[in-house]
Amino acid sequence: MTALDFTHDPRRRSWVTSAGTGSEFPLQNLPFGVVAGPDGEPYGVVRIGDEVLHLGGLAESGLLTAEAQTAAEAASDGTLNALFALGSGPRAALRRALHALLVERTPHQQAVATLLTPLRDVDVLLPARIGDYTDFYVGIHHARNIGALFRPDNPLLPNYKWVPIGYHGRASSVRVSGTPIVRPHGQLKAPDAPAPVLAPTRRLDFELELGVWIGPPNRLGTPVRIDDAESHIAGYCLLNDWSARDVQAWEYQPLGPFLAKSFGTTVSPWVITPEALAPFRIPFERPDDDPAPLSYLDSPRHRAGGGLDIALEVQLSTVRMRADGDAPTPITRSSSRHMYWTVAQLVTHHTSNGCNLQPGDLLGSGTLSGPDAGSEGSLLELSGGGTEPITLPNGETRMFLEDGDEIRLRARAQRPGAATIGFGECVSVIDSAITYP
Ligand code: CA
Repeated sequence: MTALDFTHDPRRRSWVTSAGTGSEFPLQNLPFGVVAGPDGEPYGVVRIGDEVLHLGGLAESGLLTAEAQTAAEAASDGTLNALFALGSGPRAALRRALHALLVERTPHQQAVATLLTPLRDVDVLLPARIGDYTDFYVGIHHARNIGALFRPDNPLLPNYKWVPIGYHGRASSVRVSGTPIVRPHGQLKAPDAPAPVLAPTRRLDFELELGVWIGPPNRLGTPVRIDDAESHIAGYCLLNDWSARDVQAWEYQPLGPFLAKSFGTTVSPWVITPEALAPFRIPFERPDDDPAPLSYLDSPRHRAGGGLDIALEVQLSTVRMRADGDAPTPITRSSSRHMYWTVAQLVTHHTSNGCNLQPGDLLGSGTLSGPDAGSEGSLLELSGGGTEPITLPNGETRMFLEDGDEIRLRARAQRPGAATIGFGECVSVIDSAITYP
């Protein structure tokens, strides 16, 4: 696990005014991303407050040395894959250098200020070229809630507490926050109908997930040991695994999700680094009655700090709410504490058969519902399987998403003695279905 150093000191502040109190992007965060300016050319940046710092420009400035220079150069083109591939050494060196250049009273303020651009003047893009996307199912309360809808007596299947369940998702339709989602068509079959019909989904849903960006690769045929797993992680984001529940119910047996999921996945644009999240590690724990993980998924070091404590929230805004000037309303509050398997365990399990992960691969945690009412990570759960609509503050009700609805995922890491950091938004609005050709 990453050790704490001066870059985590909550007393240090940046000379960038918008990174002050209340910002999700203070000096202690420093996430990476990719943006495009007016000419449309993408380039790598680090975010501080409401500004982005041009990493290619920084690499040419002469302000960096050695490892940090290597990392900034790797991040200077249109994707962060090369930076991800470098791993934690150069990435952490660049973080330390950035911190020293952005902290109050640095002698380099004037030089660095010329490399900053207000966020409002750039387009924010996907941070990496995604080779493969894998979605897991580690939210045990979600698994139990969904299982209970289908198998009230036996909600969790017997493999759940032994194997991190996952499936291979669709990388080509992962889009960055802000991109609308078009309501997809699919085969729908009412239980009493003799045959399905092709129609726009009537049960469009979100899933609140943590996303993980893979860093250095493992060679095909070479599993990653649990204590090396963290070194293969480049960073974290929020991920919305859009789901068409009626399509899913009809198509999922026997091979699992397919077109009910592959029409779109939305991620937040900022790559929150493992270094930034170091103050928010928590022990990996299991209830006494649960089986201990098999030895390849277990180690003393992993038990000590394998978990993450990040507060999660989902907000909904309808067309009427926006017309009336109402703020988005929170419909779910949850936490990454509800992951039954840690991210390190996902990496180790994913590679345990020799499967090779590559820089820029994306993992989804699975829906992170909490144990209580109001902490469910999908509308399917919030509405009791589509039987009891939720009521919004203005009296509107929702069972599933309607056209024009906007879903916003948020994440925040905070604890006493550490600077609070946020993930930014993972937001998308539902566009009406196309006229089928
Ligand atoms: Ca999912």
